[in-house]
Amino acid sequence: MVLMHPAPALSTLDDAGLRTLCGRLGIPEYRAAQLRAAPWQPFVATLDDVRQLPTELRSTFDAQVRFSTATVAAERTADAGATIKLLCGLDDSLTVETVAMETPARGASRRRGTACVSSQVGCAVGCPFCATGRMGLRRSCTAAEIVDQVRLAGHALHRHGFGPVTHVVYMGMGEPLANAAATIESLHVLTGAAGISARRITVSTSGVVPGITRLQREAPPVTLAISLHAATDELRNRLVPLNRAHPIAALLSAAGSYASATGRRISVEWCLIGGVNDSLQQAQALRELARSCGAHVNVIPMNRIEGSSWGPPDPEVARQFLHQLRGVQVTVRDTRGGDVDAACGQLRASLEARRELRPDGTLSPPRTAVGA
Ligand code: SAH
Ligand code: SF4
Repeated sequence: MVLMHPAPALSTLDDAGLRTLCGRLGIPEYRAAQLRAAPWQPFVATLDDVRQLPTELRSTFDAQVRFSTATVAAERTADAGATIKLLCGLDDSLTVETVAMETPARGASRRRGTACVSSQVGCAVGCPFCATGRMGLRRSCTAAEIVDQVRLAGHALHRHGFGPVTHVVYMGMGEPLANAAATIESLHVLTGAAGISARRITVSTSGVVPGITRLQREAPPVTLAISLHAATDELRNRLVPLNRAHPIAALLSAAGSYASATGRRISVEWCLIGGVNDSLQQAQALRELARSCGAHVNVIPMNRIEGSSWGPPDPEVARQFLHQLRGVQVTVRDTRGGDVDAACGQLRASLEARRELRPDGTLSPPRTAVGA
């Protein structure tokens, strides 16, 4: 059972809800707009930091809402400080991972501040190459927990001297479309109060077909990324067990319909695993498939995880795989933050190995060095 705080979360209260609350507390209605914008200022970590509100109003309001549903329980940096990995603690002491990444402006492309958020504590899909898949599903995140991770990523970027969050990717722990209602609600908040354009948000799915249909009907037109990893059902059944319920043809048909309805090009994710899905036949099948649906392909060499003998392919094999994809738009994604266990669920797994994370998902108090 999830013990949730009874007070509503400020980050997911809409205009009508805020106005009603203001009315009930005798706060002038025009304050509702200030309160709605407050959580999205990078330097605002508590309601007390919202200096344009009178002190009395802040304390009245603070007692009625939750300013944040997540707090930073641990932080690690990598890539000379450009990747900040956060372990976020939730109400029931469970933790999820959030990553904030700074990409400086280069040539014609502007700087980016990307927040990579978790949608669930763990995941039920169970992909064998994924650290999150190995822990099973503990519970889904609420919409407020998802958007509050974006806020914490923004604070982290600000603390490290960078600009605001400009992009959000749902590529942390969990399967966002197995938690479709909260994911969709969070997308409305991010494109509404947080002011992030839908084209700068990516939802990555392992292939929950009914979830894609729902996203198409109910969410703002965000970019959809399909974690394909295999171009034949036989191999995909092993790599993404959800494929048995929603095989490749059904997934591609739902993705195609999403692309036509939203006008958004689909991304296809391919975690390249040495000796598993790096054959020339898989590459050729991927090329055909990507060309038929006009998708952009992201190839991510597998990050090693504890307890698996799988890993990235030999560089020459990877080169030949990529060569087969000519004619398709391909990006080879660097595994940002490799030195802080970058792939999904890995920071958590490494804390667990060091016994800083208890088996029930709660963090043990920081250990003080002997003699300190
Ligand atoms: N559940 C969703 C979103 C979270 S996983 C999904 O599967 O799409 C985000 C991405 O990280 C997915 O493309 C997933 O396949 C990839 N991933 C997971 N474990 C990985 C690993 N060990 N190395 C590289 N990529 C990994
Ligand atoms: Fe779940 Fe995605 Fe990991 Fe698969 S890759 S286990 S769907 S989080």
